[in-house]
This record gives sequence, structure tokens and C-alpha cells, in this order.
Amino acid sequence: MTEIEFSSKITVKLVRAMASDDMVVQAAQVSSKGENSPDTVPERLIRALMAGKHGSPFEHNAFTFFVEAPIFVFREWQRHRISSFNEMSGRYTELLPKFYAPSEDRPMVNLGTKMKPDFTRATPDVWLGVRWQLGSVALESWVSYQRMLSNGVAHEVARMVLPVNIYSQMYWTVNARSLMNFLSLRVESDDSHVRSYPQLEIEYGAAQVEALFAVQMPATYAAFVAGGRVAP
Ligand SMILES: Cc1cc2nc3c(=O)[nH]c(=O)nc-3n(C[C@H](O)[C@H](O)[C@H](O)COP(=O)(O)OP(=O)(O)OC[C@H]3O[C@@H](n4cnc5c(N)ncnc54)[C@H](O)[C@@H]3O)c2cc1C
Repeated sequence: MTEIEFSSKITVKLVRAMASDDMVVQAAQVSSKGENSPDTVPERLIRALMAGKHGSPFEHNAFTFFVEAPIFVFREWQRHRISSFNEMSGRYTELLPKFYAPSEDRPMVNLGTKMKPDFTRATPDVWLGVRWQLGSVALESWVSYQRMLSNGVAHEVARMVLPVNIYSQMYWTVNARSLMNFLSLRVESDDSHVRSYPQLEIEYGAAQVEALFAVQMPATYAAFVAGGRVAP
């Protein structure tokens, strides 16, 4: 029987970027200069566009990421409509025997409220219980899945037994404006003017997106952070 893998990792890789700060400037300056080719990036202009929520100059770029994460993370990620997704199919292929299980240091007991959660670590006993429950459900569901497939049941029906912590893979393409909206909602930060409380697992992915974005468009990223992480 196939071995089941457990992981607490969310993987984000930058596949391709067509993105630069100077294209933001070029797009913005067409309004007063027509066709133009800036040889510097006036950071003041980028900050002013960001602060004034003049957002369309931040749309002339594209990032394509490969993401591997459990399905419950994709449920949240794919709510970001202003972007494009293609995901591994559970109808056309056998899913991978890989399940998410939080590591022991993942805070999982809420001492706050639903709207303003304040998570702390579980005791070792409680965490072991969580780990055991996740392990036994994953194993049982995977055995059922395999049994149905070997009885000739279609993937699209057999997958109905699988839990939402099974991993999936997708390509995600997004422009900088929508990416900043994603970051504003999916990363909790003291710098945010409007604080968000995302689920930690999507935040693991968003933090990787943020680091890759910062390298590609440093002036735009700096203006986003300086402006309280508000997407233009
Ligand atoms: C902490 C947190 C908790 C959440 N809890 C829930 C929940 O309990 N239940 C739930 O269903 N969702 C929940 N969501 C999802 C949330 O409501 C959004 O669907 C998700 O964050 C995507 O944001 P977005 O719409 O801004 O992004 P996108 O879909 O990428 O849209 C980007 C922007 O485009 C504009 N836009 C896009 N579509 C429209 C439209 N149809 N009409 C007008 N303007 C549009 C808006 O300005 C929007 O901000 C939660 C999100 C977070 C961060």
C-alpha cells in the first residue's frame, strides 16, 4: 500500500514574473507625457499613487506562482477573484497521499474571540491528540479512496472520502495590485492600518509571496508597507 506523507509546509515558488517598478511609472506617466520610457523610478510618484489609491498603474505586470498547499488553504486562496488559477484535478488524476498536519509549535488554542483571535500553543498532550486524530482520519480515508479506485470507481466519486487537509497543487497568476490586496488580507502585521486575522496556513504561503514580490518590485513594495499595507 502507498505510504502516507504528513507535512506542515506550504510551498510557494515564483515560476515567472513580468514585473518592475518602472512599468508602474511608465503606465502612470502616459496620462501627462504620452508614450514615455522612464530611466529612473521616482519613489515619490509611486508613494503618491499608492496613497491616492490610483491603482491601475500597478496592474501592468504579472506574477505566476506554483503553490502546494492543503485544500482548506486553496479554498481561501481561490476567493481572490482578481487573479487566475489552474489546479490539479481530483477528477482526472489520483491525488497525492500527502496530508497537512500542524507542527507542535503551531498555536491552536484560541484565548481571544472569533473576530480577534489570540492563539496560543496547545499542551503536548492536546497536540498529540490532534496529531493522532489527523493521522487516523487520513489513513482511513486514504484506504477507502484506494479501495474504491481498485473497485473501478471513478476518481471523482472516490475522492469524496478525502479530507480537506489533503495537499493539492496549482499555478496562480496575479498582478501587483491584486497581490497587494491579497497580502493586506492574508498577512497579519503591526504595520497594517486595517489589521487582518488570517488563518496561519494561508499566511505561511502569503509570507512567501510577499518576499518574492518585494524582490521584483522593491519601490512598490516599500510604498505598500509605508502606506500601512493598504492596496491601492
Ligand atoms: C480573515 C478573513 C476572514 C474571512 N472570512 C470569510 C468568511 O467567513 N466567509 C466568506 O465567505 N469569506 C471570508 N473571507 C473571504 C473574503 O470575504 C474575500 O472573499 C477574500 O478575502 C477575497 O478578497 P477580495 O474580494 O478583496 O479579493 P478579490 O476577489 O481578488 O477582489 C479584489 C477586489 O476587487 C473588487 N471586487 C472583486 N469582485 C467584486 C465584486 N463582485 N463586486 C465588487 N467589487 C469586486 C473589490 O474591491 C475587491 O477587494 C475572509 C477573508 C479573510 C481575510
